[in-house]
Amino acid sequence: MNAEADHIFAIEPNPAMRAAAERAVLLEDPAFGRVFTDHMVTVKWTEGQGWHSATVGARKPFLLDPACAVLHYAQEIFEGMKAYRLDDGGIGLFRPEQNARRFNLSAQRMAMPEVPEGLFLGAIDALVTIDEAWIPGGEGSLYLRPFMFASETFLGVKPAAEYIFCVIACPVGAYFKGGKKAVSLWVSDHLNRAGPGGTGAAKCGGNYAASLMAQAEATTHGCDQVVFLDAVEHRWVDELGGMNIFFLFDDGKLRTPPLSGTILPGITRASILALAKARGMDVAEEPYAIDQWRADAQSGKLREVFACGTAAVVTPIGHVKSTGGDFTIGNGEGGSVTEALKDALVGIQRGRIEGPDGWVRRVA
Ligand SMILES: *Cc1c(COP(=O)(O)O)cnc(C)c1O
Repeated sequence: MNAEADHIFAIEPNPAMRAAAERAVLLEDPAFGRVFTDHMVTVKWTEGQGWHSATVGARKPFLLDPACAVLHYAQEIFEGMKAYRLDDGGIGLFRPEQNARRFNLSAQRMAMPEVPEGLFLGAIDALVTIDEAWIPGGEGSLYLRPFMFASETFLGVKPAAEYIFCVIACPVGAYFKGGKKAVSLWVSDHLNRAGPGGTGAAKCGGNYAASLMAQAEATTHGCDQVVFLDAVEHRWVDELGGMNIFFLFDDGKLRTPPLSGTILPGITRASILALAKARGMDVAEEPYAIDQWRADAQSGKLREVFACGTAAVVTPIGHVKSTGGDFTIGNGEGGSVTEALKDALVGIQRGRIEGPDGWVRRVA
C-alpha cells in the first residue's frame, strides 16, 4: 500500500477536546447523527498537484465562498461505515476496502478525482485512533462519514479543479427510534429516485435530495420509509431511500433486486447474499414487481421482507402502503430468518463469530 505511506497526516489535536465526563453524558443516548467526535480528517486536491495537506485536526466548520461549486452543482459523494468495539477490547472495521472502492466508483460517475485506497483507509484509521474514546460500548458503534465535495470557487458547469476529502465521525445507537421491531413502507409510484444512465448506483448527496419529497409523502401516510420503483415502468422494486431490500418466500428462496445501475450496491446487501449462500439458501438477484409483491403477501407465499444497510443494519418490514392498496408481511413483526441473518452479520461485525476472510479489519 504505497499510497498510505505517501500520505502522512499532520496531527493537530483539538485544543478544546471535551472532557471525559461530558463525553460520557453524550454517549449515554447518542441517537443517530447528532453527536460528533472532537476531530476530523481533511485532505485537499488541486488540479495539477493531486492530493495534499492531509490533516487530522479539530472538527470545525468549513469557510466556503458563496460561489463554492458544490453549493450550486452538487458535485458531492459520501460513504457510510462503522467502527466497532470488539469484545477483546480492540477496534474493528467491517470490509472498509469495499467502501474505498465504492467511493471511487462514485467519484468516477461524478467526474471527481479518485482517492487512493491507502489514503482513504489511512484517513479512517487516523480518525478512529484519535477519537477512540468516542466508540460507544454495548450495542452502539462509531459511524464514520467520509465525503468529498467540489470546493472550487466558480460558477460554470464543468468538473471542479479543487476538492476536499473529509472524514467525520459520530457515536450512534439504533437508527430507528425506540428500537422498533418492524418498519412500514410507502410505495412511491410517481416520484423516482434514479433512472437508467443516472446516478442511482453512486453514493451522492443528489440522490438523497431527489428522495426527500417521496420520503415526506411516506411520512404523511404514516410510514417510516419510502420504497422506490423503477423509473421507466413504475413496476419493479428498486430500493428504499438509503437501504436495499430482500424478500423471503415460503420455499426458502431469498430474493433481492439486481444491480441494474439504478440501485446502490450495498455492502450489507453483498454480505447478506454471501452469508445466505454459505448457509445453503437459494438466493437470487432478480427483479420483483410491485403487483407480484402485493399478491405474494396476500397469498402467504411471501414470508419475510427486510431492509439492510450500514446505518439500519437489518430491519424487518411489516406493513406496506400504496395507492393500489395496503398489505402486511407475515404477522407484521418480522420473522426468524431475518433475525438469524441479522445475528450472523452483527456477530461477525463485532468479532463474536468467525466470518469470511478479511471481513473484519482491525485498527492497529
Ligand atoms: C448507502 C446506501 C445503501 C446501503 O449500503 P451499505 O453499503 O450496505 O451501507 C443502500 N441504498 C442507498 C441508496 C445507500 O445510499
